[in-house]
Amino acid sequence: MDFSTKIQTLNLQALELQQTNPANAVIMCREIIDQALQLNAEVPEFEDQLAQTYAILGESEHALGNLSNALEAYTHSLTLIEEINDPAQTYKLLANIGNVQGRLTNYADSLETRFRALDIASALNDPHCEAEILNAIGYTYVVLEQYSEAMPYLKRGLKLLQDHEHKNVLSYILDSLCNACQNLGEHEKALEYGRRAYNLSKELGDKTCQATHLISLGKAYLKIDNAPEAMRQFQAALDTAKADKYIPGASLAHYHIGLLLTDWQQYKQSQEHLGAALHLAEEIDSKHMIFQCHLALAEMYKQSGNYKLALMHHEQFHAIKENVFDTESRNQIHSIEVIHQLEAARKDAEIYRLRNVELTEEIERRKQAEEGLKRAAILDPLTSLYNRRYFIAQAKKELTRSIRYPHPVALLMLDIDHFKAVNDQYGHLVGDEVLIEIANRIRRSLRKVDIPGRYGGEEFVVLLPETDLAEACQAAERLRFSITTKPTNTSRLTVLVTVSIGVASMLTGESLTMNELIERADLALYHAKQNGRNRVEAYSEELQRG
Ligand code: GH3
Ligand code: MG
Ligand code: MG
Repeated sequence: MDFSTKIQTLNLQALELQQTNPANAVIMCREIIDQALQLNAEVPEFEDQLAQTYAILGESEHALGNLSNALEAYTHSLTLIEEINDPAQTYKLLANIGNVQGRLTNYADSLETRFRALDIASALNDPHCEAEILNAIGYTYVVLEQYSEAMPYLKRGLKLLQDHEHKNVLSYILDSLCNACQNLGEHEKALEYGRRAYNLSKELGDKTCQATHLISLGKAYLKIDNAPEAMRQFQAALDTAKADKYIPGASLAHYHIGLLLTDWQQYKQSQEHLGAALHLAEEIDSKHMIFQCHLALAEMYKQSGNYKLALMHHEQFHAIKENVFDTESRNQIHSIEVIHQLEAARKDAEIYRLRNVELTEEIERRKQAEEGLKRAAILDPLTSLYNRRYFIAQAKKELTRSIRYPHPVALLMLDIDHFKAVNDQYGHLVGDEVLIEIANRIRRSLRKVDIPGRYGGEEFVVLLPETDLAEACQAAERLRFSITTKPTNTSRLTVLVTVSIGVASMLTGESLTMNELIERADLALYHAKQNGRNRVEAYSEELQRG
C-alpha cells in the first residue's frame, strides 16, 4: 500500500476516534504526521490527506479545550489546503479558526478570519454557512460591545434564514439580536427577539439553547425594570441548564439570580446563588465568570455589612483581574482599533462589489449613514436625548398646535440635586454614567407623544402634550419616584441621587410663548429647590423669585 492510501485509511480511523475519544484521536493524528514528515521529500504527493489529518487533529484539540494546539493544527491544514483550492474545506477551517481565536479573546483576528469565511460562504452560495458565519461575526461584535456594528450582520443572517430553515443558527442569531437591541435602547425589540429565540429552541428541544435564551430574555426584562419577570426567566434558565447538566448556563443563571437578590436585599439567598455560580465557574475554569462572581459576592457582602468577607472577595477579584482580565481587556481595546481599519477596508471592497451586483443595498447604506449624521445633529451625544436646540424647535411646534386646537400642554423641568457633590466625590466619569441612567429612566417613564430633552448640564426637560397641570404633576411624581428609589449601578459603584422637578402648564385657551412656559417651570423648580429638594413643585401665580 502506498503511503497516500495508508494516510487515507488512518485518517478515517482518526475521524471515528475524534467522535468518541478525542484524546486518542490526537495521539493518532500526531503519529500520522510524524510518519509523513519522515518522508519529507514526497510531501506534495499526499498534501490533501495530510491537510485532512491536521484538520482532524485541530478538531480533536478544539474539543479537548486545547485552544492554542487547535489553532496551530488548523493553520497547518489551511496552508496545505490553500494549494489545492477546496472552498468547502477552506470555509470549515476558517470558521473553526475564527471560533478558536474568539475563545482566546483575539477578537480582531477572529473577525478578520470570519470575514474571509464569509466571502467564501457567499461564493459557495450556501445559505446555512453564510448565516452561521454572519451570526459568528455579529456575536463577536456583541462581545466587544459594538452593538450597532453587530446589527447589519445579524439582520443579514436573519433575512437569509427566512427562506432556508436552520432553526439552530436562527435561534442564536435572534439571541445576539436580543442582546444587541437591549444595549441599543430598543427594549421592545430585544424582548421580541428573545421570545422568538426561546420559542425556537423549545421547538428544537435543545435545552442548552433554551437556557442561553432564557438568560438573554431575563436581561431584556431587567432593562425595562421588570425584575420579577426577569427573575422568573433566570429561574427557568437555571432549571433548564441543571436538567441538561449545562454548567456554564447554570453558573450564569445562578449569577443573575444572585445579583437580583442582592438588589432585593435578600442577602442570605443571594449568597447561596452567587456561591453556587462561583463553584460551577471554578469547575469549568471560566476565568471571566469567576472574576464576575467574586465582584458580585464582594458587593453583596459589602451591602449586607459583612466587610471581612467583602474584602476577601475583593482581593480575589483583583488577583484575577491582574492575571486574566487585563490581557483580555487589552485584547479588546486592540481589537476595536483594528476593527476600525478592517471595517474601512471592507466597506471599500463592499461598495465595489455592490456597484455591480446590488446597487440598491448601497443606496440603503448611504441613506442610513445620512440618517446617522442627522441624528448626531439633533441628539445630545452623552444621553441621546434631544439636544436643547432641537428640543425647543419641537416643543415650539407642539405649543403652536396646542394653542390652535386648543389643548392643554405641560412642561417638566428636572434638575439633579447636589450633582456637583457626585462629581466631586466620585469623579466626572461616574457623574456621566449617572446622567445617562437618569436620561434612560426619563425615556422609560414617558408616553410616545412626550418630548424629552437635555436642557443643559444636569438639567432635563420634558414637554407633555395634551396634559393638564394635575396630570403633569402626577407624571413628575412618578418620574421622581423612579429615579430616587433605585440607585444607579455605574461600572465602579452604585450612586443614589434625588431630583427636583418644576411643573408648568398652559391651560386650554391660554396662549403662552415657549419662553414663558420655560420660565414658569424654571420658577417652580427654583421653589422645589428652596423647599428642600427631592420634590415636585407646580407653578402658580403666587410664586415669586425669593
Ligand atoms: P442643586 O442643583 O441641588 O442646587 O446642586 P447642584 O450641585 O446639582 O448644582 P449646580 O448647578 O451648582 O451644579 C451642577 C453640576 O453639574 C456642576 C457640573 O460640574 C455638573 N455637570 C454639568 N454637566 C455635566 C456633565 O456633562 N457631566 C458631569 N459629570 N457633570 C456635569
Ligand atoms: Mg443645575
Ligand atoms: Mg443640580
